[in-house]
Amino acid sequence: MAWADAGRAPDAPLRIVGAHTDSPNLRLKPIPDRGGTGFRQLGVEVYGSALLNSWLDRDLGFSGRLAVRDGSSVRDVLVRDDRPVARIPQLAVHLDRGVNDKGLVLNPQQHLSPVLGLGDATPGAFPAMAAADADIDPDDVLAWDMMFHDLTPSRLVGLQEDMVSAPRIDNLLSCHAGTEALAAASAGEGPVPVLALFDHEEVGSVSSTGAAGPILDRILRRFVGLADRPTSASVVFSVDGAHATHPNYPERHDPEHLVFLNGGPVLKFNARERYATDAIGAGIVRLAAERASVDLQSFVSRGDMACGSTIGPPTAAAVGMRTVDLGVAQLAMHSARETCGSADPARLRDLLVELFAG
Ligand code: ZN
Repeated sequence: MAWADAGRAPDAPLRIVGAHTDSPNLRLKPIPDRGGTGFRQLGVEVYGSALLNSWLDRDLGFSGRLAVRDGSSVRDVLVRDDRPVARIPQLAVHLDRGVNDKGLVLNPQQHLSPVLGLGDATPGAFPAMAAADADIDPDDVLAWDMMFHDLTPSRLVGLQEDMVSAPRIDNLLSCHAGTEALAAASAGEGPVPVLALFDHEEVGSVSSTGAAGPILDRILRRFVGLADRPTSASVVFSVDGAHATHPNYPERHDPEHLVFLNGGPVLKFNARERYATDAIGAGIVRLAAERASVDLQSFVSRGDMACGSTIGPPTAAAVGMRTVDLGVAQLAMHSARETCGSADPARLRDLLVELFAG
């Protein structure tokens, strides 16, 4: 959570940009080391609605947080290991003859255990490796929040490099654009710009650091003087990935609402309040886009398909402010490797700068 109130009036309204920091991935179980068929393996849980197939046959590193003994208390230590220490091999097509006709079915318990190497499972081996990365005595490691990541570098792709291929576009792209916009808006008059980056969106936002909890309201009341500010004139902009129209599956999209990569940020609408955008909020964003010379697009699901969730509705419910859902168009949302347009991130930043300014 960050904000800039220097030079702002005590009754100035708020312009809050919200996004989420988490992405679907595979997370280490409490007793992770397993084996038995000549391989050292790890037990993992699936975090969020991951496209499970996208985690197969990739070189995986790991990262996360260790809870470490510090005398009589606990401290946290961040760890990141970019060595290709793990891999989840797919079953050969010869042993899964129907896979290309019937589709790949992956049981999260049976089929997603990363392979660490050859040999027997050694209890405590993986936490010990993480402790070594952090230069900590393995006996002092009490617990962990540890996850895997694909090691392929992010790239500009396409004949004209007009696309980005990267992990975690949903939703670090929005976090980055919001951070840049806040830095650009950090002095001056007008509304108070606030950047709120939540955890746990991919598992429903119900947590102490999620958008459905009291954290934003509590921090605004305590530090940003929420009680003296007009909530009716304040707006939350919930920024999260939007679905571009997939060229191989155009029938999955509403034909009047095609969404293009590099077509500009996308306003998201849903009559059942899965997106919080209303007409006035959309109008505020359209005016800001005009001032910023940024094109906008509109997303709505087909009438016979449900849409995803995001932080907009829980944030709106938690703080009672008008909320607009918007974001950058992308393909392959929740794949370990997602795709967006290379021009859209800067357009989102420019739009957020205008929205912060009011
Ligand atoms: Zn998201």
